[in-house]
Amino acid sequence: MSRDRVVATRRLPGDALEGLGREVELTVWPERGVPPRAWMRSEVAAADALLCLLTDSVSRDLMEGSPRLRVISTVSVGVDHIDLAEATRRGIPVGHTPGVLTETTADLTFGLLLAAARCIGEGDRFVRAGQWTAERVWEPDMLLGVDVHGATLGVVGLGAIGRAVARRALGFGMRVLGWNRTPRAVAGVEVVHFDDLVSRSDLLSVHVALCEETRGLIDAAVIARMRPGAVLVNTARGGIVDELALAEALSRGQLAAAGLDVFEHEPLPADHPLLTLPNALVTPHIGSASHATRGRMVELAIANLRAGLARRRLPHCANSEVYEAELAGT
Ligand code: NAP
Repeated sequence: MSRDRVVATRRLPGDALEGLGREVELTVWPERGVPPRAWMRSEVAAADALLCLLTDSVSRDLMEGSPRLRVISTVSVGVDHIDLAEATRRGIPVGHTPGVLTETTADLTFGLLLAAARCIGEGDRFVRAGQWTAERVWEPDMLLGVDVHGATLGVVGLGAIGRAVARRALGFGMRVLGWNRTPRAVAGVEVVHFDDLVSRSDLLSVHVALCEETRGLIDAAVIARMRPGAVLVNTARGGIVDELALAEALSRGQLAAAGLDVFEHEPLPADHPLLTLPNALVTPHIGSASHATRGRMVELAIANLRAGLARRRLPHCANSEVYEAELAGT
């Protein structure tokens, strides 16, 4: 019997791919970075399964050219890089890795929130640039930030990560407001309308998934309604926040600071206006980047992939409608 063909778009930490390679015919993109489209097309054309990352666009045309594909497994919780509707239409379950990166991403969010509000990045650059001199050893108005304790945090999206951030905020003595598309009660969080969340929050943290309805959710008009001197944090996805409007508000001083881990175009172009602003703190999409969490994400992704190859229900399926459609068809 011929072995299943699996394409992995990147080498992964740990030895999970080695184990998989003993069971299936495995092709791995051997270099760093995103595989070229031509490589994806030709390798995935004959594949039974695709193991991908959030940087790999799994589009309709890629699926069209891969008639054998019976499972897509991404090493991420977000699935906006995959045409989910098309996968469902084709009866292909899409596996993702929810749960395991919630706390790690909430930690990074809180780190960005504290660092942006309290000028930690600017302070580090100040020292390294040799500006911390005897004449400026301690000045009453040097690197003044925004207090986090006692402030009001607005959580945009009370999903798993939004709730984990809210819990941390309560521990810091913050007042926590939250908004969610689907009404949801969360202990310690005052659930409010979106407009109230924006206008009442001293710090606003974005945690909705990126999809058609949330693209541009935090646009110029929303940013203009934020409190003067507020702080914006985004660790969800880039397309949700209008980056040019944000840069404008930061340069005018309408917003005190922003902490961003995700961007509309990644990597962030070197000439991006945000990079000229001392009050914009940027990190390279490292929300889930801890040793333990990346290991767990790989484990889950491989478990999803193995289940799909064995035609079993995926442990973590992002388009579970695919099974309902299957049942309806039988
Ligand atoms: P989750 O538990 O599935 O929560 C998703 C949130 O998005 C919920 O609040 C959900 O609202 C909301 N949402 C989904 N579709 C929506 C729509 N059409 N309109 C309005 N709200 C919508 O996911 P999570 O684990 O908290 O992760 C949230 C996002 O963070 C992920 O999608 C991913 O993009 C991002 N993320 C980034 C990193 C990083 O490295 N920076 C790491 C992990 C995750 P409902 O309750 O109404 O469905």
